[in-house]
Amino acid sequence: MKQILFAAMALFFSTSTLAATPWQQVKQPVEGTPQSIGGFSNGCIIGAQPLSLQGQGYLVMRSQQLRYFGHPDLLAFIHRLTNKTQSYGLGNVLIGDMGMPAGGRFATGHASHQSGLDVDIWLQLPRERWSATQLKNPKAIDLVAGNGKQVVESLWQPQVGELIKLAASDNDVTRIFVHPAIKQKLCQTAGSDRTWLRKVRPWFGHRAHMHVRLRCPADSLECEEQAAIPAGDGCGAELASWLEAPAKLPNAKPKPPQIPEPPASCKALLVNNFKVE
Ligand SMILES: [Zn+2]
Repeated sequence: MKQILFAAMALFFSTSTLAATPWQQVKQPVEGTPQSIGGFSNGCIIGAQPLSLQGQGYLVMRSQQLRYFGHPDLLAFIHRLTNKTQSYGLGNVLIGDMGMPAGGRFATGHASHQSGLDVDIWLQLPRERWSATQLKNPKAIDLVAGNGKQVVESLWQPQVGELIKLAASDNDVTRIFVHPAIKQKLCQTAGSDRTWLRKVRPWFGHRAHMHVRLRCPADSLECEEQAAIPAGDGCGAELASWLEAPAKLPNAKPKPPQIPEPPASCKALLVNNFKVE
């Protein structure tokens, strides 16, 4: 374990490639008072806790990947949300990736989810609990039409809009990312109660899931908050600019960004926790 981790660290810190990251070698949370450290896209976490795989009202997908860890605030949010969805009879909430046991950078897939404050929640609410096989290899439902301009009406369920609204209405949630076409659908169906829409931010991808982000916990002194989101419901010109973008843009593969150095506390956490010199 030690050798593998050291090799991964050396590779990661020396070349900053998209190779396996040392964080993926960490199989258990780092003990200590829960602390989210650094940014959502460049951070780590001490004292993360696992979301129970047996909870009521939700299902944890792909648990074999060990991405169901987070700050206790994130677990508390999931429980608040799923208590509400249960009381409204909305079906089972499908929990996708949270963070790894000590947070940190993934080799592929996510830029963020690094400090224990992000969770992907799928935009479908099955009535029946899924089998272990289904949960291991779940099927996403792409809610956005091929042209990227609107949702597929035959697949859109009002309950999914309710789910997003419940999450956005939670005090600890600062941002929710969904595809611009999904935001547009919410804008069209929200009615007069619109304050929650402000937190729902358009972002490409996110066609089958929403990404929920919490504010920094007050006692996580090294947690880096993002800039405040603009005022208003975000349904006007800003959303239009996303939907006017060329339809093929979402599929274009941008060059991988340069990976920044992790915060010093995160590097120290890896070294101290695994006694790597
Ligand atoms: Zn996400």
